[in-house]
Amino acid sequence: MELNLKETFNTVVNSAEKFAKGAADNSKKMVERAKVKAEMSKAESEMNAAYIEIGKKYDELYGDRAEPEFAELMAKVAQGKADIAKCRAEIAAMENGVICPNCGKFVSETARFCPNCGCKQEEPAPKEEAVAEEAEAVESEVVEEAPAEETKTEA
Ligand SMILES: [Zn+2]
Repeated sequence: MELNLKETFNTVVNSAEKFAKGAADNSKKMVERAKVKAEMSKAESEMNAAYIEIGKKYDELYGDRAEPEFAELMAKVAQGKADIAKCRAEIAAMENGVICPNCGKFVSETARFCPNCGCKQEEPAPKEEAVAEEAEAVESEVVEEAPAEETKTEA
């Protein structure tokens, strides 16, 4: 009986050791896997950054005479540029400023020169909130009365 107990004890110890070893192997594997995965992500993002660079370079060199295979993507790029410019202008207007026509940075309404590139800024044009299309629409309508928003007495 005593021997049997000892045997049982040994068996338990053995399987506990095996289990521990298995767990250690597993976590080692997991660490290795995570390492390889991280390496792969890094390679992927470097590759994708290079793809983006290729696209920008292509746009820079051939944007004005892109081959037909690139037409769709180039149209998306052009659309993106236009949308970004529009948003920039909107944001600038919200912050009482304009976008420097030279460098594209924000210039406050009152600044006469761009703080970024030094480009001379246009004299603030008389404020017209209407977008070009809206202005067109208004023009084709009756152009007698301006909207009654300028009724404030100017000091
Ligand atoms: Zn500028």
